[in-house]
Amino acid sequence: MIQHDVVIVGAGLAGMRCALEACRELDVAVLTKVYPSRSHSGAAQGGIAASLGNSEPDSWEEHMYDTIKGGDFLSDQDAVEEYVKAAPRVIYELEHMGCIFSRTPDGKIAQRSFGGHSKPRACFSADRTGHAILHALHEQLMKNAKSVKIYNEWYMHSLIVDGDRCNGVVVSNIQTGEVEVIQAKAVVFATGGYGRVFKITSNAFASTADGVMAAFEVGLPLEDPEFVQFHPSGLYRQGILFSEAARGEGAYLLNGNGERFMETYAPSRMELAPRDIVARAEQSEIDAGRGVDGENCINLDLRHLGKERIMERLPQIRQLGIDFLGIDCITDCLPIQPTAHYSMGGIPTDKFGHVISDENGTRVNGFFAAGECACVSVHGGNRLGTNSLLEAVVFGERAGKSVLEYAAGIDYGNVNEGQEKAKVLKKFEDVYQRDGSESYNDIRDEMKEIMMSHCGVFRDEEKLKVCIETLKGLQEKFKKGKVTDKGKLFNTEIYEVLELGNMLGMALLIATAALERKESRGGHFRTDFPKRDDANFLHHSMIFDTPDGLVIKKKSVVITKHQPAERTY
Ligand SMILES: Cc1cc2nc3c(=O)[nH]c(=O)nc-3n(C[C@H](O)[C@H](O)[C@H](O)COP(=O)(O)OP(=O)(O)OC[C@H]3O[C@@H](n4cnc5c(N)ncnc54)[C@H](O)[C@@H]3O)c2cc1C
Repeated sequence: MIQHDVVIVGAGLAGMRCALEACRELDVAVLTKVYPSRSHSGAAQGGIAASLGNSEPDSWEEHMYDTIKGGDFLSDQDAVEEYVKAAPRVIYELEHMGCIFSRTPDGKIAQRSFGGHSKPRACFSADRTGHAILHALHEQLMKNAKSVKIYNEWYMHSLIVDGDRCNGVVVSNIQTGEVEVIQAKAVVFATGGYGRVFKITSNAFASTADGVMAAFEVGLPLEDPEFVQFHPSGLYRQGILFSEAARGEGAYLLNGNGERFMETYAPSRMELAPRDIVARAEQSEIDAGRGVDGENCINLDLRHLGKERIMERLPQIRQLGIDFLGIDCITDCLPIQPTAHYSMGGIPTDKFGHVISDENGTRVNGFFAAGECACVSVHGGNRLGTNSLLEAVVFGERAGKSVLEYAAGIDYGNVNEGQEKAKVLKKFEDVYQRDGSESYNDIRDEMKEIMMSHCGVFRDEEKLKVCIETLKGLQEKFKKGKVTDKGKLFNTEIYEVLELGNMLGMALLIATAALERKESRGGHFRTDFPKRDDANFLHHSMIFDTPDGLVIKKKSVVITKHQPAERTY
């Protein structure tokens, strides 16, 4: 059995920032199914928010209000306050670690506008911000190699829980297929989001809900899974993100008639309204037959920005347009459509990174979560652009501090190595042995298709019920599949099947919680209940697995400074 003081699953911004904190005093393992710098954080383009005030006067108070309003008043305001206050400090820390930010002419960290933020507050490295931060953090971890061991291309299967305490994880080495138990005083999940359950998504292949489902499988609830963010600018049919930074720099959205249709939907903020509003506006235009050339897309127009500005500020996304659609945004409009982008919900945590097991905030000993897989909840019903990298860094660090406090002076808990290993080996064996006629690829495609069409930008009761029934049917089919690669070495087919199992489970939780929330708020829009309903739904959803099936309980929203108000832009 492998032993470490703490095991952190995930090597994106949240996991690596957490590791840097914890390794000050503890022996840390970071486990990741992809090489650290391939974590989805590296794909982040537009920026990271902080009220530095380098372009215009700004304050944490304004950042706080924008975040809460952007989240449609479902954010826990105590957590938001701490997080926006920490933002300027963490940006300077990242800079001192070696992260290269773009500059103003007088040498300060440059800041651009982003949707829903009333001030230009996105710090950025051209349009490769996540890449720059991820590499800076990775370098720092390598500098601390004595106290941090990175398990590259290892897969976490399950959590080890004894009573109310978490004692480790069961993992396997993807290269060899060997299953191992890692015993730890504390476990941190930083496993990212689950956008891959949707057909059109900006998310990396690794964003498959493994962490959230492993937590759910040991009896913990998930919080707010119905809130999924659709980003307005996914490349048409590909879903690949074309950063909001383009609109931050001044790009227009045009419908098939060449009109800047955001005038109708958000006249004061136009293209820079929050993402949920812009994505719905686009989908409404498409549904009304005003898409471009009769297709399910609208146009993003950057041409007036000019070659120089595009090459300086948006070089990567220009290249994406050329590589994936054969279109150069310097000379032509880019066809785009809403793309599943970010999961507001996840493993419920308090603002210190401790995972909680119920609506009253009861902590689970030795289990922490941070980043996109966690629901703190600072983003409420809808996350503002650039607030997620910030969340990953702030709460990654916070979870690291909590781990230091928790693990000091505590002994290892009980782990029955043989029993824990046997459970995972059986799961492997089941998949190897299955000799059914169903195709996992077809099941995956059907799941993605139904989630997009029935649980996407617009939802209603009828569609959601069909979606749930379809998903249950797919779960049955899943038991009758067959893998063709029966080998052990680098058997990526097996891992894709395990991920698919997690995604089917996650999809069902999203759709079930979406059916229960009979209102429209943030990223969750019900055409049969188009208004926000604070009287009945100003609460977080906590979804539990019980012997009687899935049960949703209410968790109060923490409101400190800002009473819910109508959300107009
Ligand atoms: C294209 C794109 C652009 C974005 N742009 C921005 C932006 O400009 N600004 C902003 O604020 N936000 C942006 N976001 C959102 C932001 O990037 C993410 O929310 C954030 O980076 C998530 O970080 P994380 O550390 O939580 O997870 P990730 O970076 O997703 O890392 C997850 C880690 O978990 C590991 N993992 C998962 N499952 C397992 C398993 N079973 N076993 C072992 N390891 C596992 C993975 O290997 C990976 O290392 C963007 C997102 C996308 C998709």
